[in-house]
Amino acid sequence: MNNSKGHGTGSGNGAGPGRGTGSWRGSGTGGGKPRSGGGGPTDGGQGGGDRHRDHQGRERNRGPKRGYSATAPSQRTRRAEPARLVAFEVLRAVAAEDAYANLVLPARIRHHRLDRRDAGFATELTYGALRAQGTYDAILAQCVDRPLTQLDPAILDALRIGVHQLLAMRVPAHAALDQTVGLARAVIGAGPSSLINAVLRRVAAHDIDGWLGILLKDETDPVRIAAVKHAHPEWIVRALRQSLVTHGRPVDEIDLLLEADNDAPVVNLVALPGLGSLDEALENGAQPGPLVEGSALSSGGDLGRLATVRGGTTRVQDVGSQLVARAVAALPLRIDDSSRPERWLDLCAGPGGKAALLAALAHQHGATLLANEAAPHRAQLVKQALAPVPASAWSVRIGDGRELGVEQPGSFDRILADVPCTGLGALRRRPESRWRRSPHDLADLGPLQRELLSAAIQAVRPGGVVAYVTCSPHPAETTAVVEDVLRKREDLELIDAGAALDAVSLSANLGAGHGQTAQLWPHVHRTDAMFMALIRKKP
Ligand code: SAM
Repeated sequence: MNNSKGHGTGSGNGAGPGRGTGSWRGSGTGGGKPRSGGGGPTDGGQGGGDRHRDHQGRERNRGPKRGYSATAPSQRTRRAEPARLVAFEVLRAVAAEDAYANLVLPARIRHHRLDRRDAGFATELTYGALRAQGTYDAILAQCVDRPLTQLDPAILDALRIGVHQLLAMRVPAHAALDQTVGLARAVIGAGPSSLINAVLRRVAAHDIDGWLGILLKDETDPVRIAAVKHAHPEWIVRALRQSLVTHGRPVDEIDLLLEADNDAPVVNLVALPGLGSLDEALENGAQPGPLVEGSALSSGGDLGRLATVRGGTTRVQDVGSQLVARAVAALPLRIDDSSRPERWLDLCAGPGGKAALLAALAHQHGATLLANEAAPHRAQLVKQALAPVPASAWSVRIGDGRELGVEQPGSFDRILADVPCTGLGALRRRPESRWRRSPHDLADLGPLQRELLSAAIQAVRPGGVVAYVTCSPHPAETTAVVEDVLRKREDLELIDAGAALDAVSLSANLGAGHGQTAQLWPHVHRTDAMFMALIRKKP
């Protein structure tokens, strides 16, 4: 047992990938190997973890009966173990304050000073419980004697954390129960602990396969089956099926796509061209990225330890975003005018990921970039992202991008319109977002997306190009927007976006196969599901 300080039993209870067939299981750690030490002093004194594990932390001799503590709940753990406390605090912030887990989690991990393994455990527990929330709630609804809406939301969050440990992580049942009840007692109060104990015992009566069997008994609707099995809302399953078909892929890829949403994405790095280098990252275990030059796949851990990341010349960026920005910069234009340097526009730049790469490329090309962002606090993030690029190459405008068409008509050679969207293509990065989004968002965003694309078209020079980009594959915010805006416009033409991606990619055929627009996919390209249409204003 390496839990010599008597704390940090989080990963000590085993944070390895879980059992069962739900595709969310064991998916959020980016590490989190099981530690061989079992319960430790705060797991109710059972020490069961050690007895049931081999030296690699794998469980052995696991009979059908699970090792509950014989100790009464009132005599068991009374303190919140830090890794579980972190997960609970993040779930609370997400539910009560509309917070983003990926922003709150690192701060809570730092606050509680979790070591790397406990941080891995907390990450797995947080992301797993958030991703699978809908399915876990359906299981809990079978185990609680009242509607879940009548439970104190804090109790519900504690239960979700307990369910994830029981059904998707290699945490012994007694530890999952004791620690979750201890957490609830410490942070919610003594009252709910027996309810939580009783409910989690009911949950522990089946493994995840058993629960899926119960939830899906007699179910024949493929959408509902996929929704429960892969923990997505039904409307998103329907939307993603429609998206696959619209973009020319077989609908039966849906299971692979939903599974990819539940995988922890590998962190991609980009070295800003001409300014950064990947050497330090590669020396520290990163691997060269296979899809695009100047990229690397991180080996995980705290990237802040890399000086190049701290300095901002090496940045974390999904490889799909890298491809899009590089494609915009590399496109041949039909402008025969060398009398002035090219002007580039990033119409919706916050928080500045693509703007940083574009500005570095603009600097190399002798061009300048105007990075526009409507939200002042996000414009501040854009400035921070652009700081490593020589200031002569960029400027930031804070304002509504819809005004730029009238303000600066026919002014820009290349425009990126990376418009606000539902983010249905980046669900793997934002574990809570699938439960927060609603079909109304599509209707709300549609007019803004059309107005921003129209403004970009007005702002581009004849012969120049507008890239319309979303991190969603949904036809309502991709192909439908482009078709609407291009309708009856003889002066515009779509150019082959797939070929443009291929031209900047190390592996060809990224966009091949379907029409003039390009659609990347998590289950095919291991990128976010970025959509890109390239629109040229005829010279
Ligand atoms: N390109 C960014 C990047 O790679 O980091 C991501 C852009 S994000 C999808 C869309 C951005 O558009 C958000 O920062 C949002 O605040 C901004 N936005 C929303 N409405 C806008 C408007 N009317 N004009 C300009 N920006 C807007």
